[in-house]
Amino acid sequence: MSKNKSSESVKVVVRCRPLNRREESNGPAGGIVQMDLRLGQVILRNPRAPPSEPQKTFTFDAVYDANSKQRDLYDESVRPLIDSVLAGFNGTIFAYGQTGTGKTYTMQGAWMDPEKRGVIPNAFDHIFTHISRSQSDKQYLVRASYLEIYREEVRDLLDPNHGNARALELRENPDTGVYVQDLTSCVCKSIKEIEEVMNVGNQARAVGATDMNEHSSRSHALFLITVECSQPGPDGRKHIRVGRLNLVDLAGSERQAKTGVQGERLKEAAKINLSLSALGNVISALADGRSSHVPYRDSKLTRLLQDSLGGNAKTVMVATLGPAPQHYDETITTLRYANRAKNIQNQPKVNEDPKDALLREFQMEIARLRAQLNHRKWRSQQKKELVDGEGWERDGDEDTEGEEGEEVEKEAEEYVKQEEQRLEREKEAIRGDRSLLAEEKQRLLGEKERMMGDLRKEQEAAEQLTARYKAMESKLLVGGKNIIDHTNEQQKMLEMKRNEIAEQSRREREMQQQMLVQDDETLELRETFTSLQQEVEAKTKKLKKLYAKLQCIKAEIQDVNDEHVRSRQELEQTQNELTRELKFKYLIIENFIPPEEKNKIMNRLTFDPEEDQWKFQPLVPAESKSLQMKKRPTSAVGYKRPISQYARVAIAMGAHSRYRAENIMFLELDMTPPNTASLDRSAEADPNQSPSLDNSPTKDRVRKSRSWCQTPKSITSSSSNVSLAACHTATPAAAQ
Ligand code: ADP
Ligand code: MG
Repeated sequence: MSKNKSSESVKVVVRCRPLNRREESNGPAGGIVQMDLRLGQVILRNPRAPPSEPQKTFTFDAVYDANSKQRDLYDESVRPLIDSVLAGFNGTIFAYGQTGTGKTYTMQGAWMDPEKRGVIPNAFDHIFTHISRSQSDKQYLVRASYLEIYREEVRDLLDPNHGNARALELRENPDTGVYVQDLTSCVCKSIKEIEEVMNVGNQARAVGATDMNEHSSRSHALFLITVECSQPGPDGRKHIRVGRLNLVDLAGSERQAKTGVQGERLKEAAKINLSLSALGNVISALADGRSSHVPYRDSKLTRLLQDSLGGNAKTVMVATLGPAPQHYDETITTLRYANRAKNIQNQPKVNEDPKDALLREFQMEIARLRAQLNHRKWRSQQKKELVDGEGWERDGDEDTEGEEGEEVEKEAEEYVKQEEQRLEREKEAIRGDRSLLAEEKQRLLGEKERMMGDLRKEQEAAEQLTARYKAMESKLLVGGKNIIDHTNEQQKMLEMKRNEIAEQSRREREMQQQMLVQDDETLELRETFTSLQQEVEAKTKKLKKLYAKLQCIKAEIQDVNDEHVRSRQELEQTQNELTRELKFKYLIIENFIPPEEKNKIMNRLTFDPEEDQWKFQPLVPAESKSLQMKKRPTSAVGYKRPISQYARVAIAMGAHSRYRAENIMFLELDMTPPNTASLDRSAEADPNQSPSLDNSPTKDRVRKSRSWCQTPKSITSSSSNVSLAACHTATPAAAQ
């Protein structure tokens, strides 16, 4: 990837947690990780290698050892990123590492202890403090969402029925990139509210899991904060900047054991490995810079982080390590992973006036509500003027913001009160008026009652409007409004100083790292040899040094090769297992499912490129339902089935019995009692007497049927009839 002016690399920092009690009591003393904070280096000792083997050294943007404070990490490595988000950049922080190395500790920490609060709560503080201190011409809207990816399914953690909600789908928008469809997003007005959102999500995460640690080590948690800021630009128009912050706590990076597991567990392990190896492949492809294809689409995680890796975002990766010797393999894998990520180049840019800014919508809605309120105010003023005969003057304060809402509300209240009193007075006057007839009085009183009712209704509507206006407005945070404490200035200074120190140490480290590289290069240039002997000595020393380096690199190559072989073997194993399962399924299909059923199913299968998987088409496609209905011939108008003109006439005439049974489905129940006349032998004896048709229950039935046939549209109880009628009206239109 070519470096251009606006590109910057992913910042990678490494943090090592202290040895825990179990590890201390288990292994030999001391960990295998050493850190040089000044140089930003991690030195790793292989516990299985002979002491002569050189230790492995990795250099990062910053390293944090077991004694590091949460605050240090935040101020030095996270604060600049959050500042960028507040300025309208996209930002991502993700914690990567083996389970139990401190990812969650780094991201969330212990909430109760201010010293141990992690990146997320500190970011909340930072964002809201920034807003309260900014200038009053800025308006902010802060939103938060929380989701997790578990077994390649995206789940909304803020959805109240998280447990049985279906998985959400990813969608792509050419303007805004990949997003999660139907994800809950909460507008937050304070630190407390956003913390509440976080807690709700954490609880939802814990509820679904039997073992929280087990679950969290197998799922990725993404907390998303969107900060929208509107500020008048030099052109006088309000411009909106949108910063999106992704705070990601990844699943444990250790390879999920797959030996001996089958079925669901195997699938789970394969899926967890999939997203992490997809992440690894994306990082490798980006770091390599030569590969034209970056496999973002291989997993949900990489699709969601697409912008953060090689796209429009500033990214910080925190790789967490454990110091215990038994985890050497995982530790070195993590370090290699992190080392590769350093080379990724991003192209962050400020998101200015994006199309999907919610703040713009909010501002428009508020303006609309305010206009409505003003209109009401104007109307009530006019009424007042009519009633009181007072001249109404425009206040001229209609455009002023601020206490507008309250003022309007107060005036409206006053107007309603006055109006009520007036109506009450008039009612009294009517009651007291003897010249009026009782009827007239009643009518007038009724009228006044109605007017009062209208008035109350109007007041209610006004109250609702004001409430909506207030609710909308309260969602927007205005800069500079919430300053209450006097210590603010001092605190601000303190923070600035802290920032400066962090910045300085960052620069110092960078310089040290550069110096180290340059030292090697310039040493030989500066060297002048007085004697041959000296030159030989110096060159031998250098040769030794280079030889050691060569050995190191050779060992590294060997290691990487070994790792490749290992992961290849694992992939092959997975492939074998999956093939076996596939064969098993084929066996079932071939032997136990009738071919026509199989074909039916196969015909319903379609590939969804958006989701990257096969899906069933619904049996009756929702949109084609109405099309099918429209295909009915026009001869069926109003009838259950097509009837010829001749038949219709015949029905109308009631002549031929052949047509009596038309539309028999609509016949009402025949409630006539069964014919239980005793057998009259005398009637039988007289063969000339035909049974009287006129009195038979069949006649009644036929009559009903006929009357129905003649007025088919009057039947309303059947839903099919309704749709038929609709079809009837729709068909000519469709035919044209
Ligand atoms: P992960 O999320 O990576 O699985 P956790 O954050 O749950 O790991 O950390 C495992 C344990 O280690 C927790 O008890 C946590 O308090 C502790 N721990 C992790 N990092 C640190 C640290 N830097 N300092 C002190 N304790 C830590
Ligand atoms: Mg965790």
